[in-house]
Amino acid sequence: MEMRFSNKKSMQYEPSLLQDQELVKSFGKELFKGGVVSDDSSIAVNSINAPRTLDSKIIYSPYFITPDMSLSFNGDILAVSERLNWLIQFNNAIMIRLPEHIFDVGFQYKVISELKLLRNIKFRMAYLNKNFQREEFIDIDQLFNIEDVTYQGRDNQVLINREIIKIFKILERDVMPQVKVGVHCIRPNKCEFYNFCWSKISIGNIHNISGLTSKQVRYLEDNGITNIQNLPDNFKLSKRTLSEIKAVFRNKPILKRANIQKWFDTIDSNDAISYLNIETFESAIPLYKNCKPYEVLPYQYCLLIRNNDSKQFRESSFMAKSTHDPRYQFIKSLISDINSVGPIVVYKYKMTVTILSNISIVYPEFKNEIDNIIRRCWDLSEPIKSGWYFHHSLTKNKNLKAVFLSLDNNNLYSNLKISDSEKASSYYRLIAELPIRKGGQVISELKEFCYTETLAIIKVFEIFNSM
Ligand code: SF4
Repeated sequence: MEMRFSNKKSMQYEPSLLQDQELVKSFGKELFKGGVVSDDSSIAVNSINAPRTLDSKIIYSPYFITPDMSLSFNGDILAVSERLNWLIQFNNAIMIRLPEHIFDVGFQYKVISELKLLRNIKFRMAYLNKNFQREEFIDIDQLFNIEDVTYQGRDNQVLINREIIKIFKILERDVMPQVKVGVHCIRPNKCEFYNFCWSKISIGNIHNISGLTSKQVRYLEDNGITNIQNLPDNFKLSKRTLSEIKAVFRNKPILKRANIQKWFDTIDSNDAISYLNIETFESAIPLYKNCKPYEVLPYQYCLLIRNNDSKQFRESSFMAKSTHDPRYQFIKSLISDINSVGPIVVYKYKMTVTILSNISIVYPEFKNEIDNIIRRCWDLSEPIKSGWYFHHSLTKNKNLKAVFLSLDNNNLYSNLKISDSEKASSYYRLIAELPIRKGGQVISELKEFCYTETLAIIKVFEIFNSM
């Protein structure tokens, strides 16, 4: 089956208000072209029972409902043939995730089994091929991995029946269920109320300790332990987590000055120091040539350079056009803005190096300059990663903003409309959908945020350096 998707056509999806999941489903429809949308359950059921009488062999969003009308679902795609029928679900993941994807299939299996259609149908799950690299056009045949998951659906029926009973019991209640925060807030997807619910969690709460595994958190929850003060004596913790917990108890930061100073001695301050912050975004469907699913792409940077004999900074920045592949202009601009010698202080070291290395593969003509930049990148997050600095506010989140706020009372971020990288990347992807004036306003807010992050790099650098 030869199915190609033109680059021009795919442009209409980017950047989009559609969530990645919807985007993936729309590509699923391209893979199974020429279908019809049906919300009528009898059409899907009759198609499976008597495929020969069917005009269209592909049904989008097929609807199934059990005879007692208690359970129903809309599938993604029903592909009908005289020999065998497939119910295919499209996911924006790069692997089949347990248990949530198998729950989905198990539920569909249950409904289909109550409709007595199991003999005529198999279940498939389509997910993104993480090794797929887009050429000029998206080859949809290569974009997805498709697996038969019929047996997984069947083997989980005991679990599915138990969950369905649980859900019906909850629905019968006339009060809202009281659910505590937990791993369900971030897995499989981050809940939209995350910031609201988690802002109420106390520092000593077990959910605020990054060193605990989800298994350990579940064990503690099951035993009614929510605060680290009540951890059982024999509870196994890594040395690092233990020292962080002690710091929380004592309300006193961990500070290993000698180690930090040793790290700062590695920076060559004979030349001007550059401070660089890069902001990135990613998309489930590769938007540009040579991109893979969820490849992290840069869309803006802010660079502040200070000569060692001056207190003044030279500022330069870059913001990509949100409808274009940002990489070429990004790297051209960065190479022209940055000094050819001297250290480059970054906080997101690993991400910065990965992005630059990836660009150097796509644009080998910049390889020498990129290698030179990578060689000079200096990791400001090393004291945090190595545990030489820890503050009780960093138990869960150790990003630049959190580290800066733990060290400096002056909140650089307080007046920003966009004040974290996650929000910034979602806004960036929305710009093309916005009216010009609103889009221009978002661009200014994004630039302001990137500049603030770079200032935070300088502040954190100076504070650590003076310890
Ligand atoms: S963050 Fe979401 S999942 Fe977690 S407790 Fe709040 S509402 Fe529930």
